[in-house]
Amino acid sequence: QTPVIAVDGGAASGKSSTSRRLAARFNLMHVDTGSHYRAVTFALVQAGVSPGDAAAIQSHLKGLKLGEQIDGQSARICIDGQVPREEDIRSEAVNAAVSPFAAVPEVRQFLYQYQRSQAAVAARAGFNGLIMEGRDIGSVIFPDAPLRFFLEADEATRAARRAREGQTDSIAERDRIDSSRKTAPLRCPEGAQRVDTSHLTLDEVVDLLAEAIEQ
Ligand code: C5P
Repeated sequence: QTPVIAVDGGAASGKSSTSRRLAARFNLMHVDTGSHYRAVTFALVQAGVSPGDAAAIQSHLKGLKLGEQIDGQSARICIDGQVPREEDIRSEAVNAAVSPFAAVPEVRQFLYQYQRSQAAVAARAGFNGLIMEGRDIGSVIFPDAPLRFFLEADEATRAARRAREGQTDSIAERDRIDSSRKTAPLRCPEGAQRVDTSHLTLDEVVDLLAEAIEQ
């Protein structure tokens, strides 16, 4: 069975940079599930579907075919054979709509099977394993993974990180919606290792997780 490492956390908790670095260090396939929710949100927004219309969401999603394209260490989601453009999935419109759409059970259900299938994709592509980051990887997607981490950082640290990345969206509002939704709310999965990254450098966080992985 393909080794799976789950990395969860709120917006700007440091999970993306950390996961990418660990993927390179251990030759793991990296999957950013936030980009999946962003890609689906972009498709739904383009189609004029609103988060409140579960029936329209479901009928639109039924017509979408998911795949992946391996790009170096990462597997990127493809929708109908196309990798969505970064500028589209990280636009202001998607920043504002992604949490409301991610709270819709039909949207989550649509991605679950696809996300679980990435372990086999990693094995087929010759990686040593899979590192998947998101909000519910250690709780819902791979609850049995032996290595599950939950990264946290205080509000000021996260705001400073977002500003450095040139992002201005309200991460507090996204975290509020993500933490209070009924399906797969954002929280530390039971039994996961909780890491506060507020006062750690990226190198220190990477080393901390690497140590746990090497054991
Ligand atoms: O990771 P990122 O900030 O790009 O994620 C965007 C949004 O996608 C989150 O705010 C959340 O609403 C949703 N998401 C989720 N479950 C995941 C990953 C992301 O609900 N596993």
